[in-house]
Amino acid sequence: MSSAPAESMWMTDELRLYRASVRQFIAKEFAPNQARWREQHRPDPEAWTAAGRAGLLLPDVPEAYGGGGGTFASEAVVLEELADAGVPFGSNVQSIVAHYILAYGSEAQKQAWLPGMARGESVGAIGMTEPAAGSDLLGIKTTARRDGDHYVINGSKTFIGNGTHASLVCLAVKTNPAISGPRALSLIVVETKDLPGYSVGRTLEKVGRHGQDTCELFFDEVRVPTSNLLGLGEGRGFSQMVANLPYERISVGVGAVATTERAVALTVKHVKERVAFGKPLMELQNTRFKLAECTTEAHVGRVFVDDCIRRFLAGQLDPVTAAMAKYWLTDLQCRVIDECVQLHGGYGYMTEYPIARMWTDSRVERIYAGANEIMKEVIGASL
Ligand SMILES: Cc1cc2nc3c(=O)[nH]c(=O)nc-3n(C[C@H](O)[C@H](O)[C@H](O)COP(=O)(O)OP(=O)(O)OC[C@H]3O[C@@H](n4cnc5c(N)ncnc54)[C@H](O)[C@@H]3O)c2cc1C
Repeated sequence: MSSAPAESMWMTDELRLYRASVRQFIAKEFAPNQARWREQHRPDPEAWTAAGRAGLLLPDVPEAYGGGGGTFASEAVVLEELADAGVPFGSNVQSIVAHYILAYGSEAQKQAWLPGMARGESVGAIGMTEPAAGSDLLGIKTTARRDGDHYVINGSKTFIGNGTHASLVCLAVKTNPAISGPRALSLIVVETKDLPGYSVGRTLEKVGRHGQDTCELFFDEVRVPTSNLLGLGEGRGFSQMVANLPYERISVGVGAVATTERAVALTVKHVKERVAFGKPLMELQNTRFKLAECTTEAHVGRVFVDDCIRRFLAGQLDPVTAAMAKYWLTDLQCRVIDECVQLHGGYGYMTEYPIARMWTDSRVERIYAGANEIMKEVIGASL
């Protein structure tokens, strides 16, 4: 009997077929271009439309809005396959933006924005973080003041994934800066094409995830129709963000487990091939013990994340469990990958080896989508 985790309980025949097509697409269209994407610090613009044609974008958005008509399980498949191929791509950010529109958008907004996102003709970004406010979202300074049937937006955002190509930015703003607290915030979708006063700043130089763009965005008297507000009335932005965070956090957890499993598999292969002192590294007891720990922990992570996916599919993933998954699985990912780098020796520090890139790509997982300390605040507050 195999000790490997059984296939995820949420897997179906349809999802198996979908996984095969996603895998084939990534291997053919994304993997061969990774060196160039890393060099240019962004994917090719055509990657978005190609992903749209192949059905990788918005797989869990209803077909009526151009999506794949699946459940979060389809999104999980895409996340796992990207992680397995070692390709950082912002399709999950695209999905997160789409789910804000799906949850809070009017019928007209959904019809206007979602089909283009599913085709990859529109690229979505989430504009929450600012230079002076990341974890402390209530501290944002970007404002949107009403002027007739428009909002006039002023401010800046930083660390924005997909920023370069973003044509739809789901932007957190203060519509009522005079008050403090959550009711000051709203979410507005900014259509950036040819928009006066909107500009994309530097593509930021990151430690890892080089193939994915992360930018600064600037808003200088940017006029956006008031009809681009998400939800019924101003002042709901904070509660909308809080309600949607489990989607983002479980997504990070799914990628973390798939990356952890890949790291263990790559390392087992390496230590079986690499010979030292006349025998493969695998024959050293320390190597076997370390990998025994890593594979056990990956297995535990798989069971946990599958349970979270099961709950999410049943509409029962609460914010606290989502926070547990985000914090614990990304800590696990970084811990296991660090051990795997060690077992690769010097090769583990060479960027031509996937394990080295996994090490640098993974570190941010403990910081974004809510720093892991914020996750512990959420969990602690529930006790
Ligand atoms: C590669 C990358 C991509 C990103 N993509 C996006 C994006 O697409 N859109 C977007 O809006 N943002 C994005 N972010 C921003 C990210 O969400 C923030 O960096 C994160 O929320 C932390 O905010 P901060 O950087 O301002 O750190 P700070 O808020 O200054 O916090 C720094 C550290 O202090 C500690 N800390 C903070 N608050 C608490 C607390 N209450 N209790 C205990 N410890 C605490 C934590 O250790 C935290 O890591 C991205 C960031 C990176 C690096």
